[in-house]
Amino acid sequence: RTVSARVGGTDEERIERAIRPSRLADYVGQPAVREQMGIAIEAARRRNEALDHVLIFGPPGLGKTTLAHILAEEMGVNLRQTSGPVLERAGDLAALLTNLEPRDLLFVDEIHRLSPVVEEVLYPAMEDYQLDIMIGEGPAARSIRLDLPPFTLVGATTRAGALTSPLRDRFGIVQRLEFYSIPDLVSIVERSSSILRTPIDPQGAQEIAQRSRGTPRIANRLLRRVRDYAEVRGQGVITQQMACEAMKLLDVDTNGFDIMDRKLLMALIERFDGGPAGIDNLAAAIGEARDTIEDVIEPYLIQQGYLMRTPRGRIAGRMAYQHYGLKPPRELEA
Ligand code: ADP
Repeated sequence: RTVSARVGGTDEERIERAIRPSRLADYVGQPAVREQMGIAIEAARRRNEALDHVLIFGPPGLGKTTLAHILAEEMGVNLRQTSGPVLERAGDLAALLTNLEPRDLLFVDEIHRLSPVVEEVLYPAMEDYQLDIMIGEGPAARSIRLDLPPFTLVGATTRAGALTSPLRDRFGIVQRLEFYSIPDLVSIVERSSSILRTPIDPQGAQEIAQRSRGTPRIANRLLRRVRDYAEVRGQGVITQQMACEAMKLLDVDTNGFDIMDRKLLMALIERFDGGPAGIDNLAAAIGEARDTIEDVIEPYLIQQGYLMRTPRGRIAGRMAYQHYGLKPPRELEA
C-alpha cells in the first residue's frame, strides 16, 4: 500500500483513473457537448491544426477534467495540467507554454483564479501564439517576444460569472456541462461496476444513480462505498437493498442529499424563516465557506427547485419543506 501510494497514487486514485473514460464515445450524456466537440476535433485533425481554445463551465464532478483528457487523447497530443491558483507568476506560465509541442493541450483548472499578471501573458499567447516576457529588473529590464507552437488552451471553471470578459472572449469554443439525467448516471454506474468487476443489478444501479446529485463523481464514489458494504455485509452483489442500507449508513438520503444539504436547507427554513437570506449570513449560520456553498452545495439544489437564488437572497422552495416533513408557508403552497 505504501509503495503503491508512492508510485501510483492510492488505491482510490487508481480506481478513479481506471473508470475515467478516455474516449469521446465513452463520455456518457452531454449530447450537445459530445457532438460539437466531435466535429471540432475531426475538423482540426483534417486540417492538421491545433484544436481551438475550449472553455468548460460546470459544477465540480461533472466531467470537466475528463473532457480535457479526452480532447487530448482524440487529438493525439500531450496534455499538460495546471490550475489558476498554482500559476502565481508570469514566469510559471511562460515555462509551461515554452515546453509545449505543436498542437499540445494545456489544461488550466480553476481558470477564474488566475492572477491578473498571468492573464495578461495569456492573451497574446492564446491569440497569436506569442509570449511577451520581461527579463531582468530595474533599468536593465527589457521585454522579449517568443514564438510559441500552436497549442490548445482548455480552461475549466465552476463559475460562469467569475471570468473576465477579455479572457472569456478568447475561447473559440465554450461548453457548459449540465447535471446528468438518471438514465445517464445509471450507464455511468453500470460501466464503472463492470470495470471494477462488481456485479450489480438494475435496481441497485438505479438506486445509486438517483442519489448522486446529477454528478458522475458522486455516482462513482457512492458505487465504491456500496461495493464495500455489499462485500462485507452481503454476497458482494449490489442490489437495491444493499444500496439503500449502505447509503443509510453514509447519511445520504433518498434524494441524495447529505448532511451539508440538510444543514443548508434547514438553516434557511428554521433560522431565516425560509429566506430570503444573504449568502454570507447563511455561510456563517452553517459554518461553511461561501465558495463551498456557491460552487458545491447549492447548484444542484437550485437546479432541482429546492432553493431559489433571488436578488434579495436565497429562498427555500416548497419541496424543501416537504422533503423534511415540514409544512410550507402559505405563499409557497401549490
Ligand atoms: P470535474 O473536472 O468537472 O470536477 P471530473 O472530470 O474529474 O470532474 O469527473 C469526475 C469523475 O466522474 C471522473 O473521474 C469520471 O470517472 C466521471 N465522469 C465525469 N464525466 C463523465 C462522463 N460524461 N461519463 C462517464 N464518466 C464521467
